[in-house]
Amino acid sequence: MVLAMAVVRLDLEELRRALAGAVGDLRVSTKGTDRTAHARDMWTRLLFSVRAGAPTSHPPDAVVWPETAGELAEIMHVARRLHVPVVPYGAGSGVCGGVVPLHGGISIDLKRMDRILRIDPDDLTCEVEAGVMGERLERELCRKGFTLGHFPSSIYCSTVGGWLAARSAGQLSTKYGKIEDMVRGLTAVTGRGDVITTGRHGRAMVGPDFTQLLVGSEGTLAIITSARLKIRPAPELLVLRGYEFPDVGSGLEGIRRVMQRGLRPAVVRLYDEFDTFMALLHKESRKEEAVQRVEGGALPSLEGPPAVTDADGPLARLRALIPSAAGNGHGALGRELFHAALVRSRVLNTAAVTLARKLGRRGCMLIVGTEGARARTEVEASLVGRELEKAGGKDLGEEPGKNWLERRYAMSYKMPKVYEMGAFADTMEVASTWERLLDLYDSVRQAISRHAFVMAHFSHAYPEGCSIYFTFVGYAATRQQAEKKYDELWRDGLAAATRAGGTISHHHGVGLLKSPFMADEHRDSMAIYQALKNALDPDGILNPGKMGLSWQGTPFAMITRK
Ligand SMILES: Cc1cc2nc3c(=O)[nH]c(=O)nc-3n(C[C@H](O)[C@H](O)[C@H](O)COP(=O)(O)OP(=O)(O)OC[C@H]3O[C@@H](n4cnc5c(N)ncnc54)[C@H](O)[C@@H]3O)c2cc1C
Repeated sequence: MVLAMAVVRLDLEELRRALAGAVGDLRVSTKGTDRTAHARDMWTRLLFSVRAGAPTSHPPDAVVWPETAGELAEIMHVARRLHVPVVPYGAGSGVCGGVVPLHGGISIDLKRMDRILRIDPDDLTCEVEAGVMGERLERELCRKGFTLGHFPSSIYCSTVGGWLAARSAGQLSTKYGKIEDMVRGLTAVTGRGDVITTGRHGRAMVGPDFTQLLVGSEGTLAIITSARLKIRPAPELLVLRGYEFPDVGSGLEGIRRVMQRGLRPAVVRLYDEFDTFMALLHKESRKEEAVQRVEGGALPSLEGPPAVTDADGPLARLRALIPSAAGNGHGALGRELFHAALVRSRVLNTAAVTLARKLGRRGCMLIVGTEGARARTEVEASLVGRELEKAGGKDLGEEPGKNWLERRYAMSYKMPKVYEMGAFADTMEVASTWERLLDLYDSVRQAISRHAFVMAHFSHAYPEGCSIYFTFVGYAATRQQAEKKYDELWRDGLAAATRAGGTISHHHGVGLLKSPFMADEHRDSMAIYQALKNALDPDGILNPGKMGLSWQGTPFAMITRK
């Protein structure tokens, strides 16, 4: 017989007072504006209700801004005592709903923990607090002659803690690795309220690597308060080039050859036939100037914040394909045609590829960039070029790489314009070994094609495989229909990825979106994760309802307002 456990009622003012006892009155809020601001991240599924002007479905009851690990431990003790969930919040740029307080409770905003504690030129490491924003850290390192080498497209709106929690990858990850390859140690507060430090001696040498147990756990095991990260000398030179390949297969063969020869270009981006065609078509409507070799590597492009536009977004690319039909995208006829085309996504996808093949002067474009010390980079760039040519690549010169570099942060951090047109856009990033990669590409592409217009590029290469980044745009007439279509698209896409032997995510993390797929991804190993969860968070208060973890303990307190 299962006994129903009683739900405890808790007055909101009691919770507020208890939190104020940990951090002071000024750094606790129960205001509607703060609660709404911390109720979601950039997950596309949540933007449907924003567009509809619907109220936030899962706001936190309170928001707190701790400044030290000690304060955070105090908050955790309060949350344990009152049995209230806690959800860490970095900058809310996640795209899977990871920060959504599914069961209410306390949103812990880490942005006041933003000190750069140490930059050590001898060990080539730095120590930073979890709430530091990516751009600030990279600028500070750059001023001292170093780089972290981590350049996610969200560098202007994401934190180091968020990167580590969700296993972020930057645009130069093929050389520098993902964030998990850069971390040497962490300080974190567990669900027990204990402050733990891992990797005291740098790289793990004895026993399991406890740092890596916390990386990627998205706030379910502990909240990261600071990290020790590997840094590199700032590059002296970045050499960017474009290559044309007859098809995706030969382009991938070129990348595989490069990686398995031991070469490590920083940028590797192979666009599929359709994405290549769209990029070229779209480019012709923009004025470009050509360059080159960039002195000082990729850093100069961090000089100022990017223009926030939708210029490279999916809507702009669609407009490039059907310019006369869609007009400027806002006319009634353009809107109708746009919707009509998206509704017939399967036909549109087939027609688009045929058109790309018929009209495209190029097959697939590869952007490759090599950076580092000048002499080494010059040699490495020429060796990379040689391998690519052996695989059938034709050198297109420096211009394609320059175009990419200029616009690599030019994306909308707000709701993309495509939403104003009544459609939705999102991305799915999967990965696999070389052997399965083409099958993975075909399977996922087909699965998404049934629901939306789709294109893809391959990036983040490894000696053993590569990731695939699908961008898609879909449409349905009502919010409910759009949500249904969106859910079916993800279900079919991720099921296809699993069947083809791919992983369900390369760097966007899991959050709410991919939580139901965690068991298929990890199978027996989920038991290890669950055991860790039970040990580090015995009350189940850390980011509950996420990552495919279960909780059968005492129900959370029901928070009431007088
Ligand atoms: C325009 C745009 C471009 C993007 N480009 C990239 C890209 O190139 N590469 C990439 O990897 N991602 C990219 N993303 C996704 C997103 O930026 C990353 O997932 C990033 O790592 C999230 O960081 P954040 O600080 O915003 O974390 P949040 O969104 O605040 O949180 C993400 C998850 O981590 C948890 N969390 C946050 N901080 C901590 C902490 N200190 N301790 C424990 N858990 C914590 C949260 O609870 C949540 O589950 C992009 C997003 C957008 C909107």
